[in-house]
Amino acid sequence: MAVKDIMDALKNESLQDIGLDKNLAQLVKDIKLVGEELNVLLELPKAGLEDVLRTKLEQALSEVKEVKRINVRFSKTPDQSAPSQQKPQIPLQQPMFTKRKVPGVRHIVVVGSGKGGVGKSTVSANLALALKKIGYKVGLLDADIYGPSIPTMLGLKGQRVTVNERNKIVPAEKFDMKVLSIGFMLPSEDTPVIWRGPMLMKALTQFLFDVEWGDLDFLVMDLPPGTGDVQLTLAQNVEISGAIVVTTPQDVALADVRKATSMFKEVQIPVLGVVENMAYFVCPETGKRYYIFGKGRTAEFAAAYNLKILGSIPIDPEVAERSDQGEPVVVSRPDSEVSRAFIGIAKLVAQQLG
Ligand code: ADP
Repeated sequence: MAVKDIMDALKNESLQDIGLDKNLAQLVKDIKLVGEELNVLLELPKAGLEDVLRTKLEQALSEVKEVKRINVRFSKTPDQSAPSQQKPQIPLQQPMFTKRKVPGVRHIVVVGSGKGGVGKSTVSANLALALKKIGYKVGLLDADIYGPSIPTMLGLKGQRVTVNERNKIVPAEKFDMKVLSIGFMLPSEDTPVIWRGPMLMKALTQFLFDVEWGDLDFLVMDLPPGTGDVQLTLAQNVEISGAIVVTTPQDVALADVRKATSMFKEVQIPVLGVVENMAYFVCPETGKRYYIFGKGRTAEFAAAYNLKILGSIPIDPEVAERSDQGEPVVVSRPDSEVSRAFIGIAKLVAQQLG
């Protein structure tokens, strides 16, 4: 559903019953659909109409199933802001939220995916290690609230969050890298985290801002799959240098990449490119490449959407085995084809961000 369709629905919502010769669409100053969340800035024609306008907006969009949450903000009317000829106080293109920079961190790179199971956490961990290997100071933050797998991948199972005398969270250190995971907060590996909006927002911002990260060139952040609250909270509150989207070359995964990349673009996080995982299998006997999910699909997709492919990573059963044992491939088999692919991706990321 495009914003245009939403605006059409709002045009049908007359405001005559509250004494205004307008429809609801005519009060919209800014509107953004991010995933399933709609952010609307409405002109407030008269003080005291906030609740009724909010209700009308919700009613007008109640049938629109693509919109699950609506955030409404109000701008002042021309007569509320002096002098009288002044423009509305919040200009149309100005972002509605202020983004903060994490002190000491030069670049935050978020790693997302359209769907789960495509190797997003594997890419996050190994990209962080590859950046480390080519000489940068790196941190890794696992914000995958639905399935934090970084503790297992880095051999940090059972690790807990500690706080220092300055009341700052102290990240774990592994492979010469600072690591923090939502998993460090769970009583056991299998406990699902059920976050509600404000709680999630607080936990996430704490995991970024109340942490002794030290000086980092890159903080790589493993996001949950899809286009939900975490992505939105981050985009609204934190300065992020770029996003990487991980996919496998299947149509189902690529279709979801489209959603993920357009979400990042909508929230003004530059998409650095796509990582194609499980792109092919190299037969150990013959060295021949087999493109199990089809060849060239990701390239076609990337060209159509003007995205860069940062690298293609082969399927390698040892990646999965070693990950489960806490030995990420860039560390355990630095000369493998998979590791070389990760180093290539790290170089491109570093190049793009300068
Ligand atoms: P996600 O974070 O997208 O859910 P994971 O990184 O947890 O995905 O990967 C899912 C599973 O696939 C894990 O068992 C992981 O070890 C395995 N895996 C990921 N990439 C590869 C690869 N290139 N070759 C073999 N196994 C892989």
